[in-house]
Amino acid sequence: MNKDVVVRFAPSPTGYLHIGGARTAIFNWLLARKTGGRYILRIEDTDAERSTEESIRGILEGLTWLGLDWDEGPYFQSRFADDHARAARQLLASGDAYRCFCSKEDLDRKREAAGRHEEAFRYDGTCRRMSSEKAEQKEKEGIPFTIRMRVPRTGGSVRLTDEVYGSIEKKYEDIDDFVIVRSNGQPLYVLSNAVDDIRDGVTHIIRGQDHLANTPKQILIYRALNKPIPKFAHMSLTLDPKKAKISKRRHGEKVAIHYYKENGFLPWAMVNFLVLLGWSASGSKEIYSRKELIDAFSLNGINRANSVFDLRQDDPKFFTDPKALSINAHYLKTLEIEEIIPFVREQLQIAGIWDEAFDGAEKEWFKRTVDLVRDRCQVTTDFVTTGRAFFSDDFETDPELVEKKVLGKWLPDLADRIDAMESYTPEAIEGVLRDLLKRSGIKTGVLINGVRVAVTGQAVGPEFIETLFAIGKQAVARRLKKAAALFR
Ligand code: GLU
Repeated sequence: MNKDVVVRFAPSPTGYLHIGGARTAIFNWLLARKTGGRYILRIEDTDAERSTEESIRGILEGLTWLGLDWDEGPYFQSRFADDHARAARQLLASGDAYRCFCSKEDLDRKREAAGRHEEAFRYDGTCRRMSSEKAEQKEKEGIPFTIRMRVPRTGGSVRLTDEVYGSIEKKYEDIDDFVIVRSNGQPLYVLSNAVDDIRDGVTHIIRGQDHLANTPKQILIYRALNKPIPKFAHMSLTLDPKKAKISKRRHGEKVAIHYYKENGFLPWAMVNFLVLLGWSASGSKEIYSRKELIDAFSLNGINRANSVFDLRQDDPKFFTDPKALSINAHYLKTLEIEEIIPFVREQLQIAGIWDEAFDGAEKEWFKRTVDLVRDRCQVTTDFVTTGRAFFSDDFETDPELVEKKVLGKWLPDLADRIDAMESYTPEAIEGVLRDLLKRSGIKTGVLINGVRVAVTGQAVGPEFIETLFAIGKQAVARRLKKAAALFR
């Protein structure tokens, strides 16, 4: 294993796995797989009030579904409280941090005063100037305190070269003496996250752009602890077409990974789509197998520009980004049939139309039929909606589709002829239909459309004779008889 690359995905378990989180996980996973490095999963659950078991389960399920296997973990940040406390003590001892006894009320008052003068609130350094003896004395007296970093006031700056955003400079004077431990002893994210990354030996921090503002502060922590500073790659935002940040509040379930699972996406299609939201190699290639993507991936290809996820909020024709759908449809049509069968099976099971025979006596038939139907599918749920009649008698026929009532008279006749067939082959089916056309004088198009509606409930579908063949003699005859009433 390559020891030079250690990455991690460090979600806070306060909600489901969403598009942005999944994208971050994918890029970390890709860098590890590309370099032979190590990919760690760390659940940042120190915020006990907001973290939930349900969210942890959802995140693990989502990552597993996407196929983003991790090499280590899941670690739980809350189990490492000792490390965080030790680091805070070390920072106090070295003088890089100090105890701040200013009460919340004091600080609120000062903050309000700054607000009145329209100034940004900065901590005025009251406790920064306190001697360590006095501070220790106050601690002994039991006076509550927070711990703040002592940001250098020497006129310099923190510089870094972000792998995506390039060179970034933050002047010391623009960094407040930030709090790293709350008065109740809880470490803040800036501290616990950095301490964990140090312990886990993380070399590359790939995360959302919203953490860019924390990075200079974390670099100060690394420096004060005398630890090597990892590389940072911050990823741009994902916006909707109106340029609003993608969020649960605005976009509901459409930002959740489970929404795509439930709506018939194949996991790799989702990974492929999400990667394109924020990364591109040279050229216009858009479909990448797992291997191709790992080969092509590099941090250089991550885009600085924000990406647009066209959620189609108000367009019922598409339930999500048309590009996501077209990528999914591509995989559905082209993967080995064995690879998609488990996902089709899952949808049939959910819909209550799965039959154990499909995996037994009718296995070969099932494979052929999935192959026939998949050409017209974009998502696996299409197998239980538009493709339902291939797997079940239980489907609805929209009366609007019943156009030519003349067929009513002939459908029972056709049903009888089909029932009487000795060998039910595509050629023989065609023969029976031709014979009926001749005897009835009905137009070919009328017959085909009517029979298709009668047998599948749909006006369109796979090749007509193939459809009748796949559905089978008995079911076709039964359905034709039953549908005759509709055509009267
Ligand atoms: N727990 C943080 C988050 O979910 C992790 C940020 C990071 O990757 O450093 O936003």
